[in-house]
Amino acid sequence: MEIVFLGTGAAWSLPEHSCGCAICTKMTELGEYRARTSLLIRSSRTVLLDCGPDLGIQMRRNSMEKPDLVLLTHEHGDHYLGMDDLVAFRRSVPAKEWTPIPVYASEETWEAVEIRFGYLLEALIEKRIAVPGVPLPEANLRITPFKTDHGPNAKGSVGYVLEEGEGDESVKFVYTSDFLRVEEETELLLEPDVLVIQSHWFNEPTVNRPHLMSFQRALDFIRRWRPRSATYLVHFSDGDQVPGDPCNSFLKKYEPLSPVAEPVSGRPYPVPRCHEEWQAVVDRICTDFDVKGPVLVARDGLTVHLNRDPGRS
Ligand SMILES: [Zn+2]
Ligand SMILES: [Zn+2]
Repeated sequence: MEIVFLGTGAAWSLPEHSCGCAICTKMTELGEYRARTSLLIRSSRTVLLDCGPDLGIQMRRNSMEKPDLVLLTHEHGDHYLGMDDLVAFRRSVPAKEWTPIPVYASEETWEAVEIRFGYLLEALIEKRIAVPGVPLPEANLRITPFKTDHGPNAKGSVGYVLEEGEGDESVKFVYTSDFLRVEEETELLLEPDVLVIQSHWFNEPTVNRPHLMSFQRALDFIRRWRPRSATYLVHFSDGDQVPGDPCNSFLKKYEPLSPVAEPVSGRPYPVPRCHEEWQAVVDRICTDFDVKGPVLVARDGLTVHLNRDPGRS
């Protein structure tokens, strides 16, 4: 199984246009960029997980082939508005060879998606319903949606567990997308080989109205779900307040509830601004709090090969 991180940024990509905050300034200086979060899984099937408005450029950058299926997590624009770009695959094959792409989403998510993209149905995509807890009827690859809580504006939000192979030779991959809680943490979520989890903020904010995941909160999930091979963090934003930054008064800057702090001194860890700072502080925290790693900060274009390991227990 190959996992390609097509994008690793939040809803408006990063750095944000016209933003001079400490995070965007540092990223601009370094030439860093995070497109809207989306993943491509290549295994016995090619699976596109979410398709935000950056899909067209992500397809080109990653030489992406036609996906066998698309899995949508929820109805927010950064997770499905790129669907039109899939038309490129249809336009350049002989008419007789084309088959529409199945697109899975929950019933509630489809209600929103269909209003916008109803005209793509039949010719380009096929509407398929993802029911939490019920595996999708896809050959060779077991895909099970699970219900996530991403607030009242995304009632139908789901994550997906992808499994391939049998018994000791199986590979399990868990993708949570945007969420604050999982209502029912079943055994299916435990001990995946790879967990991809959102890290929208570094510190949990005072008010988490958008129901998003901070790295501080994600630590609890990493501890409970115990990924065997690695955790990858995605969906980074510039919503944290960096101490001393005059832009902390911006609407998007959230005050920390109780910042992640060193266990002995009680000093808050530095709020990371760029990729290197993120990975450095994540490494420190995982060591200081004995969190099973590695916990890796994903970047756009990162490709991970997930091999079966018959020798593992
Ligand atoms: Zn999002
Ligand atoms: Zn969302």
